[in-house]
Amino acid sequence: MPESISKDIIRELALAQGFDLCAFTKPVLSPQHKAQLDMWVGNGMHGEMGYMAEAVRVERRKEPESMLEGIRTVIALGMKHVPPPYSLEEGEDAKASGAIAAYAHGDDYHDVMKKRLKAFARDLDALLGPHDQRVYVDTAPVLEHALAERAGLGWQGKHTLTINREHGSYLMLGELFTTAEIEPDEPAQFHCGSCTACIDVCPTKAIVAPFVVDARLCISYLTIEYRGFIPLDLRSLMGNRIYGCDDCQMVCPWNRKAEVIELDQLKPRDENVLPELLELFELDDEGFRERFRKSPIKRPGRAGLLRNVAIAMGNSGNPDYILPLIKALGDSEPLVRGHAVWALSCLYPHSKGEEIVARLEYHLQHESDEDVLNELHRSLKTIGELNT
Ligand code: SF4
Ligand code: SF4
Repeated sequence: MPESISKDIIRELALAQGFDLCAFTKPVLSPQHKAQLDMWVGNGMHGEMGYMAEAVRVERRKEPESMLEGIRTVIALGMKHVPPPYSLEEGEDAKASGAIAAYAHGDDYHDVMKKRLKAFARDLDALLGPHDQRVYVDTAPVLEHALAERAGLGWQGKHTLTINREHGSYLMLGELFTTAEIEPDEPAQFHCGSCTACIDVCPTKAIVAPFVVDARLCISYLTIEYRGFIPLDLRSLMGNRIYGCDDCQMVCPWNRKAEVIELDQLKPRDENVLPELLELFELDDEGFRERFRKSPIKRPGRAGLLRNVAIAMGNSGNPDYILPLIKALGDSEPLVRGHAVWALSCLYPHSKGEEIVARLEYHLQHESDEDVLNELHRSLKTIGELNT
């Protein structure tokens, strides 16, 4: 880097492109971060995200210098988003609504951030002269929270997310890898202390130890990344969380101190803040595509989202959902049919018990999907046990 160019100028460029945080580090991870990754993958905590366990990708995660020849610096960048505009209790109490993680209320941050990273990269080219660089948002084999900690952008809390002292943890991270030599910042200090609020509040006990989240138990993974039938023992613990989960961040004391954000660049949409379950459950393929255009919520697809909505309906105790759930027994997606079966068995004690049993028995005769058949057998058995 030309000696006359200070890091402050680079930070100003990042801020001008819409980033809130910008910090610098060498492309080297600590032995603890590497060991933690090995332990996580070794214990299968990545669930069905098989790409995370591929040997090549694990090695690349551990060796950021392997991502770009001649790399000298990692620039860690953070963008704030608004916190959930309701308390943990208000979110859970909204039984006719589904809770969606706050970062997903608006546009997809991957798209927004990628554009900003590319614009920032062009600015750096102009400032520093010719050098190679790569930009990353979430998807590449990059340990973003570890690099953010090394760069001093924030420490990794016990829930494994990055916490900044002034801005809290409602942050989205991106990275710019560059061959330019830029003096590294000091690593972040750890400020969780003896707090265990995130571990205690987690509905599914997915934070199995400080700094270790077992994705297979985490509602964020289950509702967004996981494609199959949700494990039975976790369904009732999911409550009304239909896309992601903010609980561990909502209780974090560092988010109480976070500054108010004036402009969320993801443009939160009112219709995604505690949306009505019924409205979502009635979406067909085209309606789903239209409703979630440019939104991250399209990621699990219609089947995945309606699966999550069916679970929330089953957990609601609201008999108004019985008829829509009966209708969903004829849905083209086994994932939707199967979770509708489970939800109906949950609502059985509340109303229309005879009709629920009659419909489930009817579908037992006409269903061909093995997983849905299992759900039908299990639900009818559960209902039978309630009556003995
Ligand atoms: S996102 Fe939710 S389920 Fe996952 S660790 Fe945090 S509180 Fe637990
Ligand atoms: S809730 Fe407590 S332990 Fe968890 S990340 Fe925040 S400060 Fe750390």
